[in-house]
Amino acid sequence: MEQAAKHLLEIRGLMKQYGNKNVLNGMKFYVDRGEVLGFLGPNGAGKSTTIRLITGIEAVDQGKILFEGREINENLKSLQQSLGIVPQEIALYNDLSAEQNVSFFCSLYGVRGKGLKERTKEALEFVGLWEHRKERPGKFSGGMKRRLNIACSIAHSPEILIMDEPTVGIDPQSRNHILSAIKELNRRGTTVIYVSHYMEEIDALCSRLVIADQGAVILDCDKETLKREYEKQGISSLEDIFLSITGSSLRDEE
Ligand code: ADP
Repeated sequence: MEQAAKHLLEIRGLMKQYGNKNVLNGMKFYVDRGEVLGFLGPNGAGKSTTIRLITGIEAVDQGKILFEGREINENLKSLQQSLGIVPQEIALYNDLSAEQNVSFFCSLYGVRGKGLKERTKEALEFVGLWEHRKERPGKFSGGMKRRLNIACSIAHSPEILIMDEPTVGIDPQSRNHILSAIKELNRRGTTVIYVSHYMEEIDALCSRLVIADQGAVILDCDKETLKREYEKQGISSLEDIFLSITGSSLRDEE
């Protein structure tokens, strides 16, 4: 009988070098089905590089990425089908309508016909942009573009959603909309890896935190346990906890 995979996604000892620079130095963490994992670290910690390696866009120098217990080079197609990425940089086609953008990205996962129409509608409704479906994103506010970007990433119903700072520079209304949408997606069963510099978002969304620095994980902890530990020392905000662990403030680095 096949043994059940321990973790949905597991990263083991990733190494990555650009030129002479070791950007990843043994990056190691996992995410379990149904979790919202906060992936944190100062700028340059290697978070975006790790995400690129998970997507298979770039090759790993050393180490392993396992999806459902199988190495991704044996299982890349299956991981890519199951993965939704909301990149830091907004990636939209300004000469296509909002609806055509979502439809295009969803079709890359092999969704066709009636299913494509339905999923496109569902994703646009989900981010609150259905009324704007005929408009081109060039006219959208920053927050609307980010919401459309999210719709493009979730329309194929990914099992794991990786969001790399999805709320940078947006209005509070769009931010709240995005946070509620992530909670709802998770409630429906999507596993989320969430990268953000905003600790109040991390606090509101995540159950476990992985903090990276200089290409490796320096802390992997249940959020409430971490808060209780630091509370004993009189440190109550996640922001101050992060400062105490890494020696640098996230805010200063924006
Ligand atoms: P984070 O997302 O945590 O801010 P990154 O993964 O973007 O960190 O970057 C980690 C380090 O790798 C940084 O010092 C960055 O300058 C460097 N880096 C990232 N991508 C490249 C690349 N394609 N070529 C050279 N250096 C890179």
